Amino acid sequence: MLRSALAAGVVETTTSASGKAATSSGETGTIKELKIARTTQTHSICPYCAVGCSVTIHTIGDKAHNVKPAVVHIEGDPASPINRGTLCPKGVGLKEFVTSDQRVTRVLHRAPGAATWKEMTWDEAVPRMARLIKDSRDRGFEEKDAQGRTVNRLSNTALIGGCTDTNEVNFLLGRFRFGLGILPYENQARL
Ligand code: SF4
Repeated sequence: MLRSALAAGVVETTTSASGKAATSSGETGTIKELKIARTTQTHSICPYCAVGCSVTIHTIGDKAHNVKPAVVHIEGDPASPINRGTLCPKGVGLKEFVTSDQRVTRVLHRAPGAATWKEMTWDEAVPRMARLIKDSRDRGFEEKDAQGRTVNRLSNTALIGGCTDTNEVNFLLGRFRFGLGILPYENQARL
């Protein structure tokens, strides 16, 4: 009866405090609360490609100090003139990108010739990276070319980016690159 009433569009429902719903014909059932019912919504941009689709990130946690926020859903933003609420298959998987237990969140180092990666702290990694970059630059920086023209370039060091680099990351990488004079440079932003 409920199915035929729904098909005819004549069912009215009332919902009790316990979440039980009753139709006008007396049939009852439980209404499942949407997973985004009590989320905080944050607007952002999909980082995967230069289309720049807008997304809405749903987070549970209410910003209370004793609650760790959890991303429960990411969807296309219908207000965006670029994607109008849609996402491609890659963008649809954004939540897994954020929440995957396989996401690398620590510094891993594979020493020259080693077959395995070892964990390293940021306090160890940052000075090491700075030292190696400085040494490479001291070895490879060219102020003048063979004809005596000023070039200020570095070709023994390269910068590469990945598809999840944001515009801000790419902006900073660009500044870093020009500051050092690095020529080999590749990422999806083509700066
Ligand atoms: S949802 Fe797809 S098309 Fe849109 S920015 Fe992300 S990767 Fe590009």
